[in-house]
Amino acid sequence: MDKLNTEQRSKNMAAVKGKNTTPEIRVRKMLHKMGFRFRLHRKYLPGKPDIVMPKHHLCIFVHGCFWHQHPGCKRATVPEFNREFWVTKFQGTLKRDKQAEKVLRQQGWHVCVIWECETKENELLIRTIRRCIGSITSLCSGFRQSMSE
Ligand SMILES: [Zn+2]
Repeated sequence: MDKLNTEQRSKNMAAVKGKNTTPEIRVRKMLHKMGFRFRLHRKYLPGKPDIVMPKHHLCIFVHGCFWHQHPGCKRATVPEFNREFWVTKFQGTLKRDKQAEKVLRQQGWHVCVIWECETKENELLIRTIRRCIGSITSLCSGFRQSMSE
């Protein structure tokens, strides 16, 4: 029982830290498959974006729907127990997300958010990535190339 709890706790801790979570790995694998090259966790950038494409000035955040309260998403529930604590916590996260995004844009980065629920199926993930990077001119030619393969 104790062992299980410890495992569960460390699993939760990993989720809180947000490093190398499954949705992030799914996005990375798909980007790689589509022919994009990128770097991970550029710590000196505001908000520590999950994926960075320095060549194209693009930062991608892969957000958990619960922790970052994906608007309108069924995973974005607020726990009943300690509700006030969670609401405050989520507001803090949202504020930090917005602030990081603002500073990144001021520094000339494109910023895009991919939600956890958008990474579940490959079809949807491809559409999401397409939406994310489709608007960036420097990426378009490489993207078309990778899609026609
Ligand atoms: Zn969601």
